[in-house]
Amino acid sequence: MTIEYNHLRCIIDLDALCANYALLQSMSPESARTIPVIKADAYGHGLCECAHALESLRSRAVATGSPTTYAVGTAEEGANLREAGVGGRILILLGNQHSRDEALCLEHALTPVVSRTGQIRPLAAAARMAGLHADIALKFDTGMARLGFTDADFGDLVDVLASHPNVRPVWAVSHLATADDPQQESFVRAQARRFAAFVDKVRAAGFPVRASIANSAGLIGYPDLAMDGARVGIAMYGANPFAGTVWEEKGAGLRQVMRVEAPVYQVHRLGKGESISYGRTFTAQENMTVAVLGIGYADGYSRGLSNKAEVQIHGRRARIVGRVCMQMTAVDVSHIEGVKPGQYACVLGGDGDTGVTSEELAGWWGTIPYEVFCLLGLNRREFVGET
Ligand SMILES: *Cc1c(COP(=O)(O)O)cnc(C)c1O
Repeated sequence: MTIEYNHLRCIIDLDALCANYALLQSMSPESARTIPVIKADAYGHGLCECAHALESLRSRAVATGSPTTYAVGTAEEGANLREAGVGGRILILLGNQHSRDEALCLEHALTPVVSRTGQIRPLAAAARMAGLHADIALKFDTGMARLGFTDADFGDLVDVLASHPNVRPVWAVSHLATADDPQQESFVRAQARRFAAFVDKVRAAGFPVRASIANSAGLIGYPDLAMDGARVGIAMYGANPFAGTVWEEKGAGLRQVMRVEAPVYQVHRLGKGESISYGRTFTAQENMTVAVLGIGYADGYSRGLSNKAEVQIHGRRARIVGRVCMQMTAVDVSHIEGVKPGQYACVLGGDGDTGVTSEELAGWWGTIPYEVFCLLGLNRREFVGET
């Protein structure tokens, strides 16, 4: 059970999610099937709800079609998806890192992404015991230097695959380190070249894999790198990976999926010279009116937003005054008529062009939209949309 500290409204617009998926798929060649990345509870948007919405694209009159492959973080997430009735291929990005993962992958027909040969042998043994074959994806390190096979590992990899024919590589994947920074295009191109060489070698060794290297920014910035399917996360949730860069226009047309509203608890006057909240970090320069909102760092709304972030009330912007507390935050509403307890303020999203974007909120927060969504998405959510 989730305990709520405040009655926030965290509203997930599944129509926007589907529209973003369709927009991203339209950037790829038709032969590529865009892979939704729904790890970490779909970046806070709801694992099963998002998957069901995307699955519903199949039956709706949209040319896009539904995804054929999904990507999640762990085998447990994959098992949850299967139990919720999601078909198709499910890639486990952190595949077979725990000993119970092999059984979960086999039981639920999940496809673990493996990055060292030590993950292949136990899977092959478990598959043999169960009388099954196991599909896997191979992860190659082309410059991220996190997980992945390198050139030095390649000979051993082919030997291990050849001696375990019940384990079949079906995808080869790699991950771009700098796709969202137009200044670092040459590194993207270098990673793509290294990856293409790995894919050629895998295919030449007799394993007819599909290939995927692009994340959201990789697809939007470099559609020629879509290969057999880009793995899209952040853009599908409506954040433009190129916001604030010279390539901002390339990511135009995405719709923010998450909206977070906080209730107004009290509205009162703050006289000239009076301070507000812990530490007295804000003192009124003029007589002003403040609204105290029911949201704070216990709800994932960072204390780092103190005296920085803005919210939307009645279609207008109001700035935070003083420190964000555990469950309350005050904003300046001197210029906004008719703010009353019981009304709601948007801390993320909102109507018209004064809505708060995830990029803006992340900027005040000193982070990226990914983290904003993951943290605010821990609140109880409501789902809206036709799907
Ligand atoms: C999270 C993740 C993605 C999605 O990246 P976005 O930038 O959100 O599109 C793609 N591939 C891998 C391996 C990931 O871990």
